[in-house]
Amino acid sequence: MTNLVTDLVSTATKQPDATFIAMNGNHLPYGAVHQLAAKLAGELRTAGIEPGDRVALILPNVPAFPVAFYATLLAGGIVVPMNPLLKAGEIDFFFSNSGAKIAFVWPDFVEEVTKGAANSGTRVIPCDPMGPVAGSLEPGEPIAHPMERADDDTAIILYTSGTTGRPKGAELTHSNIHLNATRSAVDIAQISPDDVVMGCLPLFHVFGLVVGMHAAVIAGASLALIPRFDPSDAIKTMANEKVTVMLGVPTMYAAILHHPESDSFDASNLRTCCSGGSAMPAEVQRAFEEKFDAQILEGYGLSETSPVASFNMPGRPTKSGTIGVAIPGCEMKLLDEDGKDVGVGGVGEIAIRGDNVMKGYWDNPEATAQAIPDGWFRTGDMATVDDEGYYTIVDRKKDMILRGGMNVYPREVEELIYTHPDVLEVAVVAVPDELLGENVGAAIVLRPGVTTSVEDVQAWTKERVAAYKYPRTVWQVEELPKGPTGKILRREVHPPTA
Ligand code: AMP
Repeated sequence: MTNLVTDLVSTATKQPDATFIAMNGNHLPYGAVHQLAAKLAGELRTAGIEPGDRVALILPNVPAFPVAFYATLLAGGIVVPMNPLLKAGEIDFFFSNSGAKIAFVWPDFVEEVTKGAANSGTRVIPCDPMGPVAGSLEPGEPIAHPMERADDDTAIILYTSGTTGRPKGAELTHSNIHLNATRSAVDIAQISPDDVVMGCLPLFHVFGLVVGMHAAVIAGASLALIPRFDPSDAIKTMANEKVTVMLGVPTMYAAILHHPESDSFDASNLRTCCSGGSAMPAEVQRAFEEKFDAQILEGYGLSETSPVASFNMPGRPTKSGTIGVAIPGCEMKLLDEDGKDVGVGGVGEIAIRGDNVMKGYWDNPEATAQAIPDGWFRTGDMATVDDEGYYTIVDRKKDMILRGGMNVYPREVEELIYTHPDVLEVAVVAVPDELLGENVGAAIVLRPGVTTSVEDVQAWTKERVAAYKYPRTVWQVEELPKGPTGKILRREVHPPTA
């Protein structure tokens, strides 16, 4: 029987004094996190949290996060991690949909969350900003040991970015997360108790939560947290805490690579980096690996797959630009429009089956049946596969640009533009076109101090791709809209209005 707190209790018993959370020079050991979580679990029980009840966490990356996370699970509850930047209307939906009874909230967000809790009646508990205690509740009898949970009991409900319509709550079970974190810690990043994992991905997102925090717990490694990603904080933490393993989305690697101090800070302990969440531009990977002498392994996954589905696994040849092979316990295949397997040579939608696939969407059987009609989860990502089982993402099905009957995959054009030395970031998107329906557009962030114009970049691109693919409209932006992990949100990139 799998229970996520068994993993914490086991590590806390084996190495109570080893650092779990490192932040701002303070080190919180495993034993202390376990004790604080046990105390808070007792208080949650007094406050009426029964097994199966939902508890929301609205916290940045602070020590209170793991304390409240494992406390909720010790009390038998289900954790609903939420982005602290949500507005009252969104919070109302998440609270009402999940039926969260209690929410632990960082003080900065209490006002907005309190507005959002008016309908659902969710009790808002402000966290203590000074310490790792998640919040003050009425006293209770500490609960130090995990309750029996069935493997398919839900541990967390994760609202996914939901590119269309309202977000849906992916229900991930104890077994989903335990197995995926174990594979991330053991098979992929090969983490040991001597490792220091960089905690710069948000813990409320599946990548930071499972591959970052819980994988560290399973391995007994420490997690160096920064509240929100910022490249200056990241390089300081990397040097001061002697970070050995970095997990991040491509924009984080690019931001560190282009940071003014990237030549001088100490990254000598860094050995392995894992990238996921969006496509790693080949040029960013090459330059980062060269500069910091650390390999970047690219993987792929989604909230609904807990998250890891494929990876460039150590011990096998790494194929840059691919998302690697399906991890143990997970199968992948490519389907055409009619649901037929396209195999090697074609482009199809990735479908996934395995012990990492979510139980379903919370309280939404229709959406669950649509996403998993036959035991295979439909991802909405288009890819190819080679004869060694390495997958390459072509693009999201929904992001494809249809230019007068020709398919343009934005990623391909972005990859090229990233090789221009003066470009920091780029998003290729559809621009409405009277004649063709859609045309290709590109929003570009230039590197600071360069004299190139975006029109120069456009002319440069035109020489290097088929005529139907080069962006007819280009415009310069200060920055690109990004999601909570730092992923560029193409859907929020709009051409300037004339
Ligand atoms: P989320 O559920 O927020 O984690 O987003 C999952 C989506 O991120 C997937 O459906 C993919 O579109 C995208 N994604 C994740 N990893 C990669 C990758 N290595 N390359 C390209 N896209 C990725």
